[in-house]
Amino acid sequence: MNKKRLPLIAGNWKMYKIPIEAENFVIELDKKVSSFTDREVLVCPTIISIPRVSEILRDSQIRVGVQNVFYEKEGPYTGEISPWMLTGLNVSYVICGHSERRQIFGENNKTISLKIQSVINCGMTPIFCIGEKSEEREKGLTFSIIEQQLIQGLSGIQTHKLVIAYEPVWAIGTGKNATPQQAQEVHSFIRKKLSEIYSKDFSEYIRILYGGSVKPDNIDSLMAQPDIDGVLVGGASLKIDSFARIIDFKV
Ligand code: PEP
Repeated sequence: MNKKRLPLIAGNWKMYKIPIEAENFVIELDKKVSSFTDREVLVCPTIISIPRVSEILRDSQIRVGVQNVFYEKEGPYTGEISPWMLTGLNVSYVICGHSERRQIFGENNKTISLKIQSVINCGMTPIFCIGEKSEEREKGLTFSIIEQQLIQGLSGIQTHKLVIAYEPVWAIGTGKNATPQQAQEVHSFIRKKLSEIYSKDFSEYIRILYGGSVKPDNIDSLMAQPDIDGVLVGGASLKIDSFARIIDFKV
């Protein structure tokens, strides 16, 4: 495989799977995909499944992530959990700023930036999600929206422990994926912006994932693009066979 950066295949299970289903899934997945060294695999179950899933995967190559955290360490924040509370639970990644969090729960670039910082402070890697809405793409605003999200979300952030996920909102859960060329165009723009914000070396190091209706039948052509370093998968990560085929992408 000729990829510059270690590909990351991440499953975002959103609000699906009760704990026993999550446990059985990772036991099965671990058997199916245990022998890979040229790619990294990640599952992000709901928070209630994290302790058991983490324990099951403690000696596995499959990594565990969570879908959201709050940025304070502790306090009167009913219903929230902090990254600090996850330490010791074998959690490697935290999704920050998913478009469902932005749209349904009112997150903005400022709060997302605080979350990214807090995740980094606790030794985990944020997966920072950005992407334009359909009406923004239609108005030709894709690149300015992406630039704004990057600049505001990464304000004050200094770390190499960072993953970016480009997830066009119009492609999430719609079955309508960006074409490999559309995705590559934005990924290459993101890399250029990262080199302006940080440095060329930094931009060459950071992995940029694509997310939005990734499926077994489009994974190979997406991963063939030079600036696509992995994928963040929602719906198709909920079934063993489709997720295993995505993990087993061929370039
Ligand atoms: C996601 O939830 O990040 C996502 C990309 O969902 P889907 O693959 O279902 O479009």
